[in-house]
This record gives sequence, C-alpha cells and structure tokens, in this order.
Amino acid sequence: MNDTLTFSARERVLMIAPHPDDESIAAGGLLQAALAAGAAVRVLVLTDGDNNPWPQRVIEKRWRIAAADRARWGARRRAEAEAAMRVLGLAPEAMRFLGLPDLGITDLLMRREATAPNALRAELAGFAPDLLVVPDIRDRHPDHSAAFLLAHAALAAAPRAVRMLAFAVHGGGPAGEDAVVVPLDALQRERKRAAIEAHASQMRLSRRRFLRYAQAEERYRRVALPLAPQPAHPLQARIEPDGRLRIRIDVRAYGRSPRGHMVFLVLEGGIADGVRATIALEALAGSLPVRDAVGEATLAVAEVRRGADEVALSLPLRERGDWRAGFVKLGRAEPGLWVFDRCGWQVIAGV
Ligand SMILES: [Zn+2]
Repeated sequence: MNDTLTFSARERVLMIAPHPDDESIAAGGLLQAALAAGAAVRVLVLTDGDNNPWPQRVIEKRWRIAAADRARWGARRRAEAEAAMRVLGLAPEAMRFLGLPDLGITDLLMRREATAPNALRAELAGFAPDLLVVPDIRDRHPDHSAAFLLAHAALAAAPRAVRMLAFAVHGGGPAGEDAVVVPLDALQRERKRAAIEAHASQMRLSRRRFLRYAQAEERYRRVALPLAPQPAHPLQARIEPDGRLRIRIDVRAYGRSPRGHMVFLVLEGGIADGVRATIALEALAGSLPVRDAVGEATLAVAEVRRGADEVALSLPLRERGDWRAGFVKLGRAEPGLWVFDRCGWQVIAGV
C-alpha cells in the first residue's frame, strides 16, 4: 500500500543531498509541502558538484579543467542550489553546504574520514529531525549510495528515533508496495520546475532528463531499521556462524565477469569499531588479498571460486561479533568516464 506523506507544524525534516540539484529533482515537492505545513526544514548539501567536467567543458568551452576551474564551477553550482532553494521557499539559514569532494564520498567512507560523519552527527544532534530524507542505498551513483551509509552510521548514535525516507535519482527506484508518495499541486509542480531550472549549469546537457522529475508526485522508499538484505541484488553476503564472511556474486549482472571490479566492504561496530576493506578481483579463482582500505595492509585472504553463474568469495573476519551493520558493494577499482555502479550497496546478513 502506498502512503501519502503529510506534515505537521511540529515536524522537523532534514534532507541530505549529495550534490547541488538533488534537493530540487528529488525533493522539490517534499520540501515545499513540509514548509507549507510549517515544519522546520533543513537541507544538507554534501558536495559542491564541482567534479562535473562535461557540462563545464561545453559551457566554458575549455577542454582542460584545472583545480581553479573546478573551484569556480563548484561555487557556481552552490549559488545555483541556493537560488533553487529560495524558489522552493527555504531561508538561507535552512541550507548547509559541507563542501565534501564530489565523486569522493565512497572514498571518505572507506578511509573513515571523520569530517562527514562528524557533520552528520552534529546535524542530527543539533537540528534533531523527526524525518530524515536520504539518498537510496540502491542508487547507482556512488556518492548517493555512500551518503546513505554515512547517514545510517550517524543515525546509530542519534539520541531519538528518526523516520527515514529514501530517494533514488539514478536507478534503484522505490518498490511499489513500499512507496511513500508526496503529491504536488499545479503550483508546487511549477515551482519545482523553476527550482530545477535554477541549476542552469546542468540544463545545457540534461534539461529534458532533469525536468522529467517535475511530475505530479514524488515517490520515496520507507527505510525500515534494522536494514534487511535486498533479495534481488546480484550480491548476497552473510556472516556465517563460523565467523567467515561469504559473498556470492551473480555474474550475469556484470557481463558474465566481474573481473577487474573491486569488492568494497564496510562493517560498523566490532572491537576496533569497524572494518573498511577492499578485494580487487584480479582473478576469479584462488586466493586474493583483503586489503585494509585505510592503510592497505593485508587483513585476510579471501578464497575465490568460479561457478556457472556466480563467483563465490569466503574470508575470515579477524574480529568476531558486535557488528552493528555490514555492507558490501561491487564497484570499479578506478572510476573512469562512467561513474555509475551496476548496483548500490547490499546489506550483509547475519550481522
Ligand atoms: Zn546527485
């Protein structure tokens, strides 16, 4: 059953937007509806969207983009987001820009860099939201899915229960039966369209695609905690009673071979408060090193087996028990021209 989302004046809504433009294309209707009801609203924009070379090349007519060019582009995109949020009715003090590296959120997560988690925890404690609007764990943009994991970790330390709704911008849309819907009236739809168009730097290449988000409704997925593994995900992972982590990769989702991809592992909690590790799939049989994502030390050795339609990995976890949550993703070892993942993160079962 789909639910329609309504707001009250008592509510406090915090939205996490990985890039300038996500606030408008994903939640331009929700933010207006919350403000109209008198709810307190805050939007946290994680990056300035400065790693955005193709629109910049087209608009600025330059091929090489140096650091100063990137910074200028980021400032431009931040200003566009401010203009868009003014269109939606947000006051300047309702917006926060963290200036984190665009296309670098997964790296921050893997390196356990403290800036983003600290900022999120401070917002959760200071603003005290009842409703957290977050990118979907299933989103194929790595910044989006990693932002979900950061929000999830920050929530574990939050002083009170917070409802969570997830938005998917790049694939991984909400399952029909889980959807929470925000209907937009004609005026809200018009304002949402104007907010999207305020992102003028994105309009040259993506205008039609972006404006498609100004529909008569927005759909969100309700996030139930603790998280459950996604049954249809091509990765299935479980910590077995013997303490080994077993991961099965359905190779049909990766053009029959995930070779050259990287397994990203995130375990929250445990004795050393978390593990961040990667396994480079340089071979699909034999032994592969499990590397610490922080210091590159070898943490363990994974046994890899190739079956008809799957690749199976098995590795011992040095620490036992007390995990709060665990996640696995298959991504590119080096981000190239194509930044998107085949799928977002999967939840590890048995945690
Ligand atoms: Zn985005």
